[in-house]
Amino acid sequence: MANPSPTLLALHDVTRRYTLPRERLLSPAPVVEALRGVSLSIERGRSLGVVGESGSGKSTLARIAMALEPPSAGRVEFLGRDLNALGAAALREARRDFQMVFQDPYGSLDPRQQVGRIVAEPLWQGSGAERERAVAEVLEAVGLRASDARKYAHEFSGGQRQRIAIARALITKPKLIVADEPVSALDVSVQAQVLNLLIDLQQRYGVTYLLISHDLAVVDHVCDEVVVMQHGRIVERGETARIFRDPQHPYTRALMAAHEPEFAASATVAPVIEEPK
Ligand code: ADP
Ligand code: MG
Repeated sequence: MANPSPTLLALHDVTRRYTLPRERLLSPAPVVEALRGVSLSIERGRSLGVVGESGSGKSTLARIAMALEPPSAGRVEFLGRDLNALGAAALREARRDFQMVFQDPYGSLDPRQQVGRIVAEPLWQGSGAERERAVAEVLEAVGLRASDARKYAHEFSGGQRQRIAIARALITKPKLIVADEPVSALDVSVQAQVLNLLIDLQQRYGVTYLLISHDLAVVDHVCDEVVVMQHGRIVERGETARIFRDPQHPYTRALMAAHEPEFAASATVAPVIEEPK
């Protein structure tokens, strides 16, 4: 192994607060704690699933892990480096190793852009010919055609668009892909195909996933380990098989009992706390 430390991503005691607009002129601005003291680490080759109902902080965790926003407190390290201490150029360089796939393949891809441009977007080096070759390779890796590079995103179905988004994430040969509800917006019949693609890429390219889903079955397919989130905290973690066989925390048991497609609708909102002045 080239890298002596197998830890890709580590979150140390990460808290994220959002200040909401004041409800009344003289009242203090309410604060939501979307993450409360979250610590976790992802080892290379050990994909981690994050489950929890709507509002439990999963997407916030994804944005923080991607250094798309900084934590209010705590530290985020990728390959041992504090991401939020890097300058813009160093962060851009570091980003080659971790890429993101979003939930909504309609909203996250500009429908009027050519697929080739969308997919090549994370590449900022190399000649035109090199980029074209790289685009062709990843399009084929996700089950599309090299010639699809000249089409526009709006010409593709939801499942194919998510393949385009995965190709874009794959193009820098990242070590980690953070996928936030990558199949939730897709027809059920297409979900398994996209999940199988994720599993296939894991084996072929050695990608590790941080896979977020409100759907336990999705995580069960892809991940070696799971963390369960509730109200911004991790309430249980463990090997996927163990969690499914023998959930310990009452909330995990409730999640499993409620394991229905409609389950996402039973949203809870993180409690609002007063801002410490
Ligand atoms: P999940 O992805 O599990 O549904 P989120 O991370 O989206 O949860 O949200 C967790 C909590 O943080 C929710 O209460 C949500 O309203 C709040 N939240 C998330 N992002 C913001 C933001 N940018 N501004 C204010 N509140 C936010
Ligand atoms: Mg979310």
